[in-house]
Amino acid sequence: MNTVSLSLCLSPYLLSFSTLVRNMTNQNVIVSDRNPILGSKTITVSVSKSPLFSSPPTYFTFPRRKFLELLEAADKNNNNKNNLGAGKISSWVDSMRDSSPTRLRSSSRDSDSDNDEKTSWIVRFPSALNMFDKIMNAAKGKQIVMFLDYDGTLSPIVEDPDKAYITHEMREVVKDVALNFPTAIVTGRSIDKVRAFVKLNEIYYAGSHGMDIEGPTNENSYGESNQGVLFQPAREFVPMIEKVVKILEKKTKCIPGAMVENNKFCLSVHFRRVDEKIWAALAEQVKSVLVDYPKLKLTQGRKVLEIRPTIKWDKGQALNFLLRSLGFEHSENVVPVYIGDDRTDEDAFKVLREKGQGFGILVSKVPKETNASYSLQDPSQVNEFLKRLVDWKRKTVGEE
Ligand SMILES: [Mg+2]
Repeated sequence: MNTVSLSLCLSPYLLSFSTLVRNMTNQNVIVSDRNPILGSKTITVSVSKSPLFSSPPTYFTFPRRKFLELLEAADKNNNNKNNLGAGKISSWVDSMRDSSPTRLRSSSRDSDSDNDEKTSWIVRFPSALNMFDKIMNAAKGKQIVMFLDYDGTLSPIVEDPDKAYITHEMREVVKDVALNFPTAIVTGRSIDKVRAFVKLNEIYYAGSHGMDIEGPTNENSYGESNQGVLFQPAREFVPMIEKVVKILEKKTKCIPGAMVENNKFCLSVHFRRVDEKIWAALAEQVKSVLVDYPKLKLTQGRKVLEIRPTIKWDKGQALNFLLRSLGFEHSENVVPVYIGDDRTDEDAFKVLREKGQGFGILVSKVPKETNASYSLQDPSQVNEFLKRLVDWKRKTVGEE
């Protein structure tokens, strides 16, 4: 028998392999005989929606290699059952590993199944470059508003987060975009840090995952300027974040490569330069600090764990706030386009999907669970998309 049974609530349309791994590593996974799996190219998994297995199961088929990885993760979790919180830590670590762009494939013989997976993913989330004309047709006669994440979207993910520079070419195209459309950069970084990278005054900045929003200081084509601070919903948390940064700097001093970044209203612990073998130990250190700070919560991104206030505010709320500030709250003539690469950007993709307005574009080379509608592979494709957007606008104005 090569069927695995698992109880959880799920949305079949959105459930990805990595989500299934995460859920399985936190559940009891039953595999009665693994031998047939070794000879099969694909494995079918049955998933029951009810803990008592009373409802009909849903079936998923996975490539063999992926399935064996899943079993390994489930075994690891079962071995750690007496260790409180180990499942959660390992799911963060697994998830960070999944989203790591530099992760090497285990062997070349797996490339067929990888290609199958990628092909079916790209059908669901087509390239925004290939779909450019369709996107622009939907935007005809309407106001496009651009939202751009920074790390991994405008700049590549690099080992040293202090050196995540934007290229001159990217800066120029973002400036052109801002002169043609209301444009915001929405990032987990502090506004000061991202502004120092981007060096543009024509745009809105939403730093600290949207908890710090500032308007343009230079006049853009919409006559908006000198707006300064627009919104800071977590101002009272600044001293608490400063304290936790100090505690974490001390705690992580002995972990080679670990880096703590103060983002003013939240903080990041970067794993980019830390050996993967000690990711779990570092995650444990980060998590342990929260025991004394119940008003803070932990979230996870690409090679980063973040601590932020428990207030209900995220990149999706920031997107809504900015649309409201621009006077588009109830407008049907607005097309927000949000481009981002990380889990925190999913909050914004979700808002757009729920509104049924605009488009989310995920930047990723690997298939990922997402609420976005389209995909781009990397910052160079983002650059190309933005250039085409500016050209389209100039051409449209010329036609009017
Ligand atoms: Mg990012």
